[in-house]
Amino acid sequence: MKIGILGGGQLARMIALSGYPLAQQFIILDPSRDAGAVKLGEHLQGQYDDPALLAELAQRADVVTYEFENVPASAAKYLTEHTVIYPPAKALEVSQDRLIEKNFLHDLDIETAPFAAVNNLQELRQAMQSIAYPAILKSRRFGYDGKGQVRLNCENDLEAAWEAMQNAPSIIEGFVPFEREISIIAVRSPSNEIAFYPVSENQHRGGILRVAQCRHNDPAQQLAEKYAADLIKALDYVGVIALEMFEVNGQLLANEFAPRVHNSGHWSIEGAVSSQFENHLRAILDLPLGSTQANGYSAMVNFIGNNPNPTQVLAIPNAHLHCYDKSSRKSRKVAHATICSHDKTLFEQSLQQLIQLAEDYDDS
Ligand code: AMP
Repeated sequence: MKIGILGGGQLARMIALSGYPLAQQFIILDPSRDAGAVKLGEHLQGQYDDPALLAELAQRADVVTYEFENVPASAAKYLTEHTVIYPPAKALEVSQDRLIEKNFLHDLDIETAPFAAVNNLQELRQAMQSIAYPAILKSRRFGYDGKGQVRLNCENDLEAAWEAMQNAPSIIEGFVPFEREISIIAVRSPSNEIAFYPVSENQHRGGILRVAQCRHNDPAQQLAEKYAADLIKALDYVGVIALEMFEVNGQLLANEFAPRVHNSGHWSIEGAVSSQFENHLRAILDLPLGSTQANGYSAMVNFIGNNPNPTQVLAIPNAHLHCYDKSSRKSRKVAHATICSHDKTLFEQSLQQLIQLAEDYDDS
């Protein structure tokens, strides 16, 4: 089969790498000549809403998927009408606008932080009558890795915060004093097979994910699975989906979902019987899903800014390195490494070494 992918970054690269043993072929649409995934398939170089390239993709690919949620609505519409696109366009529509997304979660009785729509300074002032400080102002669209976000600690911050948003339609959210951040990765096929990975416990700094660890028998697993199952059903979803949540006072509050494979599930490459990438492909091809069971203890650590020296990473017991074929650039995710072991003590020692090494390379 020929699989079309919108976006040629590391997520597309890891999808393609997991598709090779299944004898799949890839055709990748990305504007950049040297995007990390394009060497792994045919490259259609151009904009995501280029009508001629979309027509070619629809005509040549058996199924199309995507590695990022900001796919232009016109592209999603065209592909829906002219080929099979998974996950469905509805998931894009909802996830690319934080306000629509939060309302969607709310309507499904999935708890979130308190939030309100804000379109000008007056509305921001008004909203802060009912949302307590501290709070976070976020642009509704095109925010990722903490970009397009400003924290408000008191009334004096209101004007500067609104100015920083440059009049972008936004939402204001109460700041959640969370005990931890977790995510759940789930997958569904058109034949309605559904599977859930063990939840990941995630550490962010500066809005960027640093470490994600697979959690065995986590007390939050059951509720996280219920939330993910409700989302999958409401979206008539096919493929891998990730739901990010805050845990506070034994409660789970959803932050956002991603209609794609997700950074917090990268440990599954070595740490699960079938990785999130393989299961995404199995799902969109309507093949039987693979087991999501964990292979012992595992975690992944991002390398941000600078490419690590492979000798240093691979000297750590049970470490595996995944480079994205990207040049080093400030705050850019350029690689990750996983640690996977059945020995808890060894796992913890290696993870600490890896975290320290990643800090040495981190320029953010
Ligand atoms: P986001 O872009 O919404 O994924 O946010 C990136 C990171 O910022 C999250 O993973 C949290 O660490 C932090 N963050 C975002 N929203 C909130 C919130 N309402 N309360 C506390 N921390 C938040």
